[in-house]
Amino acid sequence: MTRPILFASLIALAAVASAQTPTPAPPARVSATAPLPADQAAMRAHVLFLASDELKGREAGSPEFDIAAQYVAAQFSAAGLRPGGAGGGYLQPVPLVSYRAADRGSLRWTPRGGRARALAFGADYVPAADPRSPATARDAPVAFVGQGVSAPSLGRDDYAGIDVRGRIVVLLGAAPKFGNGEIDASFTVGSRLEEAARRGAVGALVVADLGGGRGPGFAGLAKRWDRSAMTWARPDGTGGGAAARGVPLLATLSPAGAAKLFGPAWAAVEAAARSPRPRFAPIEGQGTLSAAFRTALTPGRSSNVVGVIPGSDPRLGREVVVLSAHLDHIGVSPPDPAQPNADRINNGALDNAIGIASLIEEAKRFAAQTEKGGKAPRRTVMFLAVTGEEKGLVGADYFASNPTVPIADVVADVNLDMPVLLYPFEDMTVFGAERSTLGPIVRRAVKSAGVDLTPDQNPEEAFFVRSDHYRFVEKGVPSVFLWPGQKGPRGAAFQTFLKTCYHRPCDEVTQPILWDQGVRFVDVNYRIAREIADADRRPVWNKGDYFGTLYRGPMAE
Ligand SMILES: [Zn+2]
Repeated sequence: MTRPILFASLIALAAVASAQTPTPAPPARVSATAPLPADQAAMRAHVLFLASDELKGREAGSPEFDIAAQYVAAQFSAAGLRPGGAGGGYLQPVPLVSYRAADRGSLRWTPRGGRARALAFGADYVPAADPRSPATARDAPVAFVGQGVSAPSLGRDDYAGIDVRGRIVVLLGAAPKFGNGEIDASFTVGSRLEEAARRGAVGALVVADLGGGRGPGFAGLAKRWDRSAMTWARPDGTGGGAAARGVPLLATLSPAGAAKLFGPAWAAVEAAARSPRPRFAPIEGQGTLSAAFRTALTPGRSSNVVGVIPGSDPRLGREVVVLSAHLDHIGVSPPDPAQPNADRINNGALDNAIGIASLIEEAKRFAAQTEKGGKAPRRTVMFLAVTGEEKGLVGADYFASNPTVPIADVVADVNLDMPVLLYPFEDMTVFGAERSTLGPIVRRAVKSAGVDLTPDQNPEEAFFVRSDHYRFVEKGVPSVFLWPGQKGPRGAAFQTFLKTCYHRPCDEVTQPILWDQGVRFVDVNYRIAREIADADRRPVWNKGDYFGTLYRGPMAE
């Protein structure tokens, strides 16, 4: 599970150095000999290996991630999957690029008929980094476009009445609030930079600290202005994918910095931003902005791991059901001088070694059904372990943009990410089910585990847009992912995990993981995948669904 996709994440996603950690290898701290039924023992074994200190948190681009990828490839092979990667193997190489602001850059504002003046680094602006180019320069008039949202189906167009062709747009980083956490969260700054590109703008500045949001704020960004982010690399070494689809983000502005561009007109924006349902009128800037920034690009490489069970139906067999889970985690935390001996390895047992263990065990479930004389699934089933989820769904983005099968043949993605299996679950929560015909399939599968579906308990967290399946949603593919619910006396363990060990070194295999709950979790996901694979008709989005419409997926009549 990735951190919330906030406006700041474009420039502030951390790439923590993991190379030199002089930690002596400790013995495995869970007794691997305690007797468990075979299916539970198998899950535990995967997590013991993948979440061991020796794999140093499986950061995308690290050698330890590559070892984890070899492990998954070997397990796919043992489960009887055919290689689905490049060159007849299980791996799909994913070229990476880390990028960060190389210097403080410059922003100069020349009011019409006036003299140019420089905006101040750290007070007015913090430079951004552009993964597409080591040097970015723009010289253009500016336009304020509110939150930069154009959503006719939601009755909102921040671009109404203004032509931004050839301009640098200035927009508030805070996401709009339409009252639906998933829809609100889909308005990442990245998606709004894409809208700006469609409108013919040439660059963008994002204003921090106005209109709410949970970002680090301008002061936080100013402190870590040169931290790295990561995306996948195009053949020429520059960044591609979601991080490179919109107009270049040139800088983040403080409200004071924005006021320098718009003069007295800016006061109305600040006033509107304080209202609970803010509406912003566009403003044409009266002058020209000159922006120049440099970006340091550092190449890297990683891999997705792909295994398939070919479909048995002559017609439906070319269609593909994807089961995805991310293999990477966040690596090793930087040293804390206050606690020099503290554990810094983010083992990622629940996030997401356990999702990978579930993926492998689901593959074995399919194979076992066929061995017992059952038919192979009618559609092809693809098992996809992706890299770079924690960097912003990068490996899934690479796969969705460079698929090993035609993306139009991918009929669904069922994603496995961070099930918190620390308590006997009494319900399940599913993200995305109410949006497509996957809903009834999911409901039947959950019922088979003897539990009910509970609506999302944390809509404000917008989990639907925070894991790998979202990259498939962006390609129009109906997708779901499931979590154990929080009902019952011990369901609070979920929130406790989020507060205490999520993205921390204590996400270890030594947590009280209930492996029998892992098997239940695998069961439900297996049933979902199996039913999608064998159904007469491929899943479609419910008529008029927001995401199905937005991304032009197949839709119910
Ligand atoms: Zn995570």
